[in-house]
Amino acid sequence: MKFKSLNNNSKKVNFLEAAISGLAPDKGLYFPEKIKMLDKNFFDSIYKLDDHEIAKKVISPFIGNVIDERSLDKIIEETISFPFPLLNIEKNIYCLELFHGPTLAFKDIGAKFMAKTIEYVIKKNHLGKITVLVATSGDTGGAVANGFYGINGIEVIILYPKNRVSRIQEKQLTTLNGNVTAIEVSGSFDDCQNMVKRAFIDNDIIKLKKLTSANSINIARWLPQMFYYFLAYKNLKSKSNSITFSVPSGNFGNICAGLLAKKIGLPIKNFVASTNINDVIPKFISTGKLIPKKSKTTISNAMDVGDPSNFIRILNLYDSNLTKLKKDFYSYSFTDSETKIVIKKIFEKYGYILEPHGAIGYLGLKKNIEKSDDDIGVFLETAHPIKFSESVEKIINKKVVIPERIKKVLEGKKKSVEINSYSELKNFIIKN
Ligand SMILES: *Cc1c(COP(=O)(O)O)cnc(C)c1O
Repeated sequence: MKFKSLNNNSKKVNFLEAAISGLAPDKGLYFPEKIKMLDKNFFDSIYKLDDHEIAKKVISPFIGNVIDERSLDKIIEETISFPFPLLNIEKNIYCLELFHGPTLAFKDIGAKFMAKTIEYVIKKNHLGKITVLVATSGDTGGAVANGFYGINGIEVIILYPKNRVSRIQEKQLTTLNGNVTAIEVSGSFDDCQNMVKRAFIDNDIIKLKKLTSANSINIARWLPQMFYYFLAYKNLKSKSNSITFSVPSGNFGNICAGLLAKKIGLPIKNFVASTNINDVIPKFISTGKLIPKKSKTTISNAMDVGDPSNFIRILNLYDSNLTKLKKDFYSYSFTDSETKIVIKKIFEKYGYILEPHGAIGYLGLKKNIEKSDDDIGVFLETAHPIKFSESVEKIINKKVVIPERIKKVLEGKKKSVEINSYSELKNFIIKN
């Protein structure tokens, strides 16, 4: 399969070319040129397949023959290396836990698949050393660092805003070392982002280093996010044929993968994009006007996005036809205080601890799902509550138990490079 740029001004490329460049030369997002449906047989017999077989069936048409079968099997094995439990929270409402990966957020799936894909390209095409340069507000950095950790030929540089990521997030960024360098910037996430953007167009840097961005618009991160929608469907197929997914959304990559899964045949009824007060998309759905705004800070900070970069892909899946989109796609926004109330309520009623993003997913689902017995709703829990323990513990008035697999990271010693300006970043990149 070929991928075209949504700005229509670059040549079509294959999966690996799109993965290595991230963005097309005309700055457009890559998008599949033609989307093929999966055959009906696959859905009829999906319960017989194991998770790796399902993932392979789903992703193969997008990859075509540019990755050989054995290597693809290995990439999938390393990506789907932890469970995706589906918990029945209350009648007809399920929670799909996506946080059982190494950095406790759903971004582990996309980040690992992308890292292994890039490793494959480097080896196959003898590309030499590549530098992954990325800015993070928290979750992305950890997942990317972990995904690329220890891969030969790749150097990872992650910029994060000093004192503005959680304790666990900082540990995940700064304790790996090896081929990962964490750079602590005195400033905000936007400052980090701006420095990264500047580096990508700085001739002094790009004549010395091959840079790649590894951000959430990369197709090698976007497409594997389809996997868990299929895995959840496999588990629910016998219970209902009317399933709705609610996805806590920021840059809208995760939900866009769900919509693509539907496009290739996954029989899902509705998708709900649940957001915090950064409500550009809920507003668009109700008014038809897409007006990007400066983002506001909330307790669900991985969704503090004022101009969701993947939304253009969603529009393309629906031929930019709002009426068509509104048949499958709903979007609602919730405040911090609504989020806190529901975290407390669910904990008191069921003993289950939501974190702020998943709580918003739950709220969106409750607003959308019909009361008929056959309707099943699934909300995605995108992170483990320990990642947001600073707010969660205050709300439920109880400590969140630290998962065993994160303890080692917490004991690690922080190592970072502090910078105050772009020229310091530039020096660092050039000298290392
Ligand atoms: C990144 C993130 C989101 C938002 O996902 P998008 O694909 O950007 O919409 C939601 N929840 C958590 C915990 C995240 O880290």
